[in-house]
Amino acid sequence: MAHEHAKPADLTRNQELVLGALNHAPAPLSAYDILDRLRGDGLRAPLQVYRALEKLVERGLAHRLESLNAFVACADSHCHRKGLIAFAICEICGKVDEFADAVIEERLGGWAQQTGFKVERTTMEIRGKCAACLAAA
Ligand SMILES: [Zn+2]
Ligand SMILES: [Zn+2]
Repeated sequence: MAHEHAKPADLTRNQELVLGALNHAPAPLSAYDILDRLRGDGLRAPLQVYRALEKLVERGLAHRLESLNAFVACADSHCHRKGLIAFAICEICGKVDEFADAVIEERLGGWAQQTGFKVERTTMEIRGKCAACLAAA
């Protein structure tokens, strides 16, 4: 179970609702999944959800998984700094584990320095089967 960030005090109501939905979901949610869950709370327009997601991602409270076109709440406080974020995505249960790896980050930093490439952000998405699903198989 991902531990939740201390909730920043300056979130808008919509941002809070969206973050809450992500925090309680066992797997990543698309913007439309989020909209579906929050309809009862007065969110009706996809744009409201997109705007809230954009801010949450900007602040490192949520992440977008490109390969799934879906969002997860940040599971750790490490990502408030720039750096490498890795996600292990289980293809059976859909669970996502977020972690950071200093060694990969260091290697990447060395490569960037050598090639003169300026890295803005790095997101690794690792697809496979989680330990629980493997044990149940
Ligand atoms: Zn994170
Ligand atoms: Zn699994």
